[in-house]
Amino acid sequence: MRQETKCIQAGYEPKNGESRMIPIIQSTTFKYDTSEDMGKLFDLEASGYFYTRLQNPTNDMVAAKITALEGGTAGMLTSSGQAANFFAVFNIAQAGDHVVSSTAIYGGTYNLFNVTMRKMGIDFTFVEPDCSPEELEAAFRPNTKCVFGETISNPSLAVFDFEKFSKAAHDHGVPLIVDNTFATPINCRPFEFGVDIVTHSTTKYMDGHDATVGGCIVDSGKFDWMAHADKFPGLCTPDDSYHGITYAEKFGQEGAFITKATAQLMRDFGSIQSPMNAYLLNLGLESLHVRVKRHCENAQKLAEFLENHPKVSWVNYPGLPSNKYHEMAKKYMPDGTCGVISFGVEGGRKAAEEFMKHLKVAIIATHVADAHSCVLHPASSTHRQLTDDELVAAGVGPDLIRFSCGIENIDDIIEDVSSALYEI
Ligand SMILES: *Cc1c(COP(=O)(O)O)cnc(C)c1O
Repeated sequence: MRQETKCIQAGYEPKNGESRMIPIIQSTTFKYDTSEDMGKLFDLEASGYFYTRLQNPTNDMVAAKITALEGGTAGMLTSSGQAANFFAVFNIAQAGDHVVSSTAIYGGTYNLFNVTMRKMGIDFTFVEPDCSPEELEAAFRPNTKCVFGETISNPSLAVFDFEKFSKAAHDHGVPLIVDNTFATPINCRPFEFGVDIVTHSTTKYMDGHDATVGGCIVDSGKFDWMAHADKFPGLCTPDDSYHGITYAEKFGQEGAFITKATAQLMRDFGSIQSPMNAYLLNLGLESLHVRVKRHCENAQKLAEFLENHPKVSWVNYPGLPSNKYHEMAKKYMPDGTCGVISFGVEGGRKAAEEFMKHLKVAIIATHVADAHSCVLHPASSTHRQLTDDELVAAGVGPDLIRFSCGIENIDDIIEDVSSALYEI
């Protein structure tokens, strides 16, 4: 099946007389005839459901759809994108371990790594996305367990150099984990470029309608854990909490990572997505291919309009030939990048605030990447505690406006932006 067909059909095949839509199994528990039947599930001897804190059939059908879209072998939903990134890293790194991460990542992920996971005893080295192979090489340590990056970073819109990072990760015998939220598997399939594990905040384009917070992890099944067994004891030595099974042996390269994350992390942290939310997420996935295309067409036209406007001082959008990442975007995402643009207006902070006040189609919201156009001025909202100098150092100048292009008619979006620019 091609991507468009997978969006509609993958993950669930109704049998004779069954519901056409994915059923919502809104149940915490599942019934069994004998205790032995249930015991087999607890020993991971049989697959099935016993408690929705760990696994739920609705969630698994939706995860299977995303897994098919990414071209992976196993996947799971989580309660949020934050939970997905935490699980993906914590599944293979523990106290005393180390992770190499790109600096060009979502602020929430940066805080998760740099503050919360440091408190858990995991160390991080951050490298610039444009670092030289030598600088990247120097970031590794004997206890490095994975490398992390974002396909298109939120909000700096840096395009990730998959080849450079995957080569370095694999030279050191560790997997590359990439957050593919902004590109979605419609525009980019990171597994084709050497990535081993993909994560998503499904809250963004996948849901696409401002309806549900959620996340997802997908495994390519390509990383050979057993070949690096000394680095990954959690996958390659017996788990005493499951009668001594060894995940990489019992579930193979294809299933070990997700089975361990479900059996241990979901069991202990319970960051499950509710089945109702998974159902709503599936509705979003069904139109993902249509929406993403439209987001990108609209963003391209708006970026071109902004680039030619006298009151706009700069525009950052990888779809523009003038953009630093344009060539890399064409290589990894020939069909388009995402619907998010950042730009600055003449007159700095005051003018940016004034501009936003006059928008009518685009709303002011701390969100990106959904059907509704929305706009954020970080200097007066998410980053308002910072001084102008600190803002510049954080790569979010006082004049920066993040514009998430929705799927409304582009003429309405451009007219809205144009008249708001007229007011400043
Ligand atoms: C929003 C976002 C996250 C966090 O996801 P939540 O669903 O809000 O927890 C992670 N990564 C990226 C790239 C994001 O845009």
